[in-house]
Amino acid sequence: MAKNSRNLPKKQVFCPNCKHKTDIEILDTGQFNLYLCNSCKNGFLYPIPKNLSKYYPKIYWQYPGQLSYIRSTLHNLLQIRRKNWVKKYIKSGKILDVGAGEGVFGKTLGPNFAVTNLESPFAKVANKNVVKADFLKWKTDKKFDGIVFLESLEHVPSPQDYLKKARSLLNKNGYILVECPRFDSWESKLFKDKWLHLDIPRHLAHLTREGLGILASRNNLKVINQSGVLIYEFSPYCFTVSLMRLLKIKPLNLKERSISNLTSMTMALILLPLGVVAETIFHLFDQDPVELSVFQKSIVL
Ligand SMILES: [Zn+2]
Repeated sequence: MAKNSRNLPKKQVFCPNCKHKTDIEILDTGQFNLYLCNSCKNGFLYPIPKNLSKYYPKIYWQYPGQLSYIRSTLHNLLQIRRKNWVKKYIKSGKILDVGAGEGVFGKTLGPNFAVTNLESPFAKVANKNVVKADFLKWKTDKKFDGIVFLESLEHVPSPQDYLKKARSLLNKNGYILVECPRFDSWESKLFKDKWLHLDIPRHLAHLTREGLGILASRNNLKVINQSGVLIYEFSPYCFTVSLMRLLKIKPLNLKERSISNLTSMTMALILLPLGVVAETIFHLFDQDPVELSVFQKSIVL
């Protein structure tokens, strides 16, 4: 789809979800632009980078370098949080993790679950148990009780196609859980192009609450819940980095030992508590930068 739209005039591009023409350019980064589709109400990146793997660090899921222990601890806390989300809806059964990385999340679910981990064919994962396949082309006889997209749906060009495929792999009354940045959140509106969660050009889909609900409904999925999630081990950090970008403070580099880096570190330590307060306020107003959406393959539909 993106290939065809490359030949069109710059301001008239097709939404990868709806194949619907849109001209609302909301952000121009020079190389990649953000557009908003007025049909499905989601943002999307255009053009899509030709060689996406080029934009991923060598080891995307691991935490080498200084403070790696702290970072891996925070990452593990996040996995426990995710486990609790899933167990609220699904007590046992088969789970598919799309965009599983090294399959860390699946291990937290325990013996009542059989987890299939799927990752892009281009991903540099070491875990041999992770199936490396293009989800949209992946053929399997398995059916799942739950399919999770944990910070992965924003990395694909057309979430609508992914939800359609996911629904086809669900058992009756099975669930789809999507955790992703919320493009229409207050934090996104506050920081605009400085928002860390934009993560251009790795994030191709910029999903809104309404937009993701529309994509689910189009795929005959019942919207069970959409609400912001307060992730203390993660969100205040993202707020602080975004704020430092906005204030034009040099990004913190843990490997560098210089006066300017010391200034950045001091500023980060001063701003981090502000991040904690801001995230708490966002959560009180259900405006968290990260959203959890739960959809169900309902027999009624
Ligand atoms: Zn659209």
